[in-house]
Amino acid sequence: MPAKPAQAIIIGAGPGGLASAILLASAGVQVKIFERLPVAGGRTSTIEADGFKFDLGPTFFLYPRILDEVFRAAGTSLQAEVPMVRLDPQYRIQFGTGGLIDATPDLARMEQQITALFPSDAAGFRRFISENRTKLDAMQPCLENPFIGWKSVLNLRLLKLLPMLHPTESVDTYLKRFFKDERVRLAFCFQSKYLGMSPFRCPSLFSILSFIEYEYGVWHPLGGCGAVSVAMTRVAQRLGVEIHLGQPVQEILFAGRRATGVRTETGSHHADAVVVNADFARAMERLVPDRLRRRWTDTKLARKKYSCSTFMLYLGVEGRFDLPHHTIHIANDYVRNLGDIEDRHVLSDDPSFYVQNACVTDPGLAPAGHSTLYVLVPTTHQHPNVDWSKERGRFRDLALRQIAKAGYGNLEKRIRFERVITPADWDQKYEIYRGATFNLAHGLDQVLHLRPNNRFEDLDRVYIVGGGTHPGSGLPVIFESARISTRLLLRDLGVPSELAHTPNTSHTETVGDPAAYAAAH
Ligand SMILES: Cc1cc2nc3c(=O)[nH]c(=O)nc-3n(C[C@H](O)[C@H](O)[C@H](O)COP(=O)(O)OP(=O)(O)OC[C@H]3O[C@@H](n4cnc5c(N)ncnc54)[C@H](O)[C@@H]3O)c2cc1C
Repeated sequence: MPAKPAQAIIIGAGPGGLASAILLASAGVQVKIFERLPVAGGRTSTIEADGFKFDLGPTFFLYPRILDEVFRAAGTSLQAEVPMVRLDPQYRIQFGTGGLIDATPDLARMEQQITALFPSDAAGFRRFISENRTKLDAMQPCLENPFIGWKSVLNLRLLKLLPMLHPTESVDTYLKRFFKDERVRLAFCFQSKYLGMSPFRCPSLFSILSFIEYEYGVWHPLGGCGAVSVAMTRVAQRLGVEIHLGQPVQEILFAGRRATGVRTETGSHHADAVVVNADFARAMERLVPDRLRRRWTDTKLARKKYSCSTFMLYLGVEGRFDLPHHTIHIANDYVRNLGDIEDRHVLSDDPSFYVQNACVTDPGLAPAGHSTLYVLVPTTHQHPNVDWSKERGRFRDLALRQIAKAGYGNLEKRIRFERVITPADWDQKYEIYRGATFNLAHGLDQVLHLRPNNRFEDLDRVYIVGGGTHPGSGLPVIFESARISTRLLLRDLGVPSELAHTPNTSHTETVGDPAAYAAAH
């Protein structure tokens, strides 16, 4: 008689949960996902209303290789599942102090852009690209492998890497080796906001973020990043994964410290292993009794550092805008704005912001002659200093005034659809601890083995995937977390699988060019 297949339950159908489901089901594990919301995708889902479609969260799709490899484990490919466009310009970055850069992956044109702003900095660009290519190559094993305890840190090639990583430097300090002008540096370090951090605090190893954009592209999946979640759901279901939407997990069941399943309103569900994709800190508080935890008790969670949050405005607007797909506006007093977010926990009068005008690339996201505008303003995570029930309306008006600086003026009368999400909404409606949209912060005290481990150290047969574990927040590394955690799970359950034994090594870019996508669809 064939052995009974191993059973895994995944809590949450975010990108981390869906990627884990695909990998486990491809290895022959019986997988059930329980998702509290009525749709899959988590923060990477779509808001759809009145003919408008917006991404709820991610809009920058970077480094497609990892998701492609996840799809390949299931016998398909990213190219076959999701049409994508590589953006050029990747984004416009405009400075409150004056000047702008239309960031392009064409190196010669990018040098011209830098020259227009600060001529002597142009020479640093290719040096930056070349040094960070070497750095990413050297870092790859650290990003693709689990970190369990100090031993794994000391064992790994990480020690050899230290001189290259400049561990005591922030991204901004590191960039001073290449660029004198503050604005040019900002063009290569604002990406630390992807981790919800200030570039003045974000460790310099994350300079690879902007490098990855230039080297591997900034992509727009047609239909938005939410379309990626739809494709992942489809592939998971094709493999036999059961996805139970609208069914929050109420608790993880244990025999001692060992997880044996979960409880939902429909009853108890047995599993050999439980994968937690729900926001890490919130899931611990809600689903695991405090007495079972050692390193991540409620008290210790409360003392950890968390990323910033975001105030969101989704606007369906009459008219089209001949403006770039992505615009990042850096506040006039950027340092003060960051201090407001991370130290003083107050709302700025002149905040930095980001606007996505996706219809310029993907007109199908809005009815004919209309546009979707997605506005993101980084703010403090939930803090007693800010009462969003009082600030919501005022801050919405401020956000509208701010985006006029990027060419989106006089919108009020043309707005046909509007939705606001505040940090309090992220906290209460989306179950994100303190509304910290990018999870635990990524300072050196909270990365590698100092993050909640992929094979969760406080419990048995519990694995963490998503932005709350190693390597961190952001779609490519979230997909990587799914590969790391499922590899450990398969090994622990003794499931024979290529995935369980092969380290992730491929360095080739497997995603074709936009023309190939267009041809395929
Ligand atoms: C506004 C914003 C912009 C972002 N922009 C980018 C970007 O441009 N590029 C990028 O790469 N990344 C971006 N990110 C970061 C990150 O990639 C996404 O947040 C990503 O969706 C996180 O994936 P995840 O798998 O960790 O968790 P989530 O997407 O949060 O998924 C977790 C799932 O668990 C579910 N859940 C929670 N509790 C329970 C429970 N008790 N029972 C069952 N289910 C539960 C949730 O409903 C959710 O569906 C952005 C994030 C935000 C919020």
